[in-house]
Amino acid sequence: MALIIQKFGGTSVGSTEKIKAVAQRVLKNHQQGNRMVVVLSAMSGETDRLTGLALTMQHIPDQREMDMLLATGEQITVALFAMAIKDMGYDAVSLLGDQVAIRTDDMHTKARILSIDPTLINSHLDQGKIVVIAGFQGVTDSGDITTLGRGGSDTTAVALAAAMRADACEIFTDVEGVYTTDPNVCPQARKIDYISYDEMLELASLGAKVLDIRAVGLAKRFCVPVHVRSTFSENIGTWVVEEEKIMESMLVSGITYSKSEARITIRQVPDQPGIAAKVFLPISDAGILVDMIIQNTTDGRLTDMTFTVLRRDYDRAMEILQKVAAEIGAQRVTGDESIAKVSIVGVGMRNHPGIASTMFQILAKEGINMMMVSTSEIKVSCVIAEKYTELAVRALHDAFALDKENMPVETE
Ligand code: ADP
Ligand code: ASP
Ligand code: MG
Repeated sequence: MALIIQKFGGTSVGSTEKIKAVAQRVLKNHQQGNRMVVVLSAMSGETDRLTGLALTMQHIPDQREMDMLLATGEQITVALFAMAIKDMGYDAVSLLGDQVAIRTDDMHTKARILSIDPTLINSHLDQGKIVVIAGFQGVTDSGDITTLGRGGSDTTAVALAAAMRADACEIFTDVEGVYTTDPNVCPQARKIDYISYDEMLELASLGAKVLDIRAVGLAKRFCVPVHVRSTFSENIGTWVVEEEKIMESMLVSGITYSKSEARITIRQVPDQPGIAAKVFLPISDAGILVDMIIQNTTDGRLTDMTFTVLRRDYDRAMEILQKVAAEIGAQRVTGDESIAKVSIVGVGMRNHPGIASTMFQILAKEGINMMMVSTSEIKVSCVIAEKYTELAVRALHDAFALDKENMPVETE
């Protein structure tokens, strides 16, 4: 008897018909003798709708109350799903994060899971029930409801698989698996059969929202193989596994884009020790994450500092930096919210120089200007104007021949 965790995302449970279809699918696995634990997201669009409602009440919504509100999205789907199963003549029970006891820290709207108690889930499974758990939510030690951040239902599923030592962890979504790039942007995108945790971590951190980055981190830490696959077909999807288990690695395995960042430049800053700390300390104190940073010395005395922050933090960051600029004697602060970050990722890059320069050539050929660049062992990211995102993704996908399996790549 296998223990299977299956997570279904928002589009998979986006209507009552879809919930019934998913219930049928889960039931089939149950009838084959498996112990089924199902994790559900809110219906597609629901979390956005709830966020919109909150913003009509409070300019910057109280984070605790925000979690109370957002957690309701998943409560709806799990209850409806359990009803659907019962209507088919079988037994199911829906459970919220606090009922399971998915304990988290108290970082409202981006809480981390600390522990999961599988006792209640196991006792329901022992009684022959399908257990349906609300994704994306947990509870603090003081009893407050928390949520795990957007896309967090993936994390709930992987955390359950780790805590319960499940035999399988399947993430069902609206595409056939993890692709070489977003298939909704590039029709030539190819489904990847196997991808390493590290590559998936990079893809997720750079914008491939098909799997939440925290879910990948947990999967890696607890060695949980994750199968990402389609709700709407029976096809095998993508296995996210340890690198050693992958026979062949591609030079470049994926292209990602993110439109969620903004660029800020502080101009003509005195080029002295301690200035960077003066600029970035108030930013980090405000809980704002900084991604890429570039410093250009103009004449040895003055320098321009450019960096990126999440677009949702842009207004707050600009406000803080106007004050900082006045204090440190910088000339002015400028910003640009219409940027995108396009990245190429692949473990094969470790041993192959020249990938970054190929990327630059391809962008240049399309007449796309690069504003910033950052690299790591297995990725190269470029900041470009947002309007060129799709063009850049398709051109890179084409030039690195990602539509073809194991195609050798020209690096000169
Ligand atoms: P769910 O609601 O099931 O959690 P998400 O919308 O969070 O689904 O993630 C699936 C979406 O991720 C796809 O519809 C696709 O547009 C997008 N996506 C972005 N990059 C990739 C990629 N490399 N491979 C697959 N899908 C991707
Ligand atoms: N409902 C949440 C969201 O839309 C969590 C999830 O779907 O994973 O982000
Ligand atoms: Mg998702």
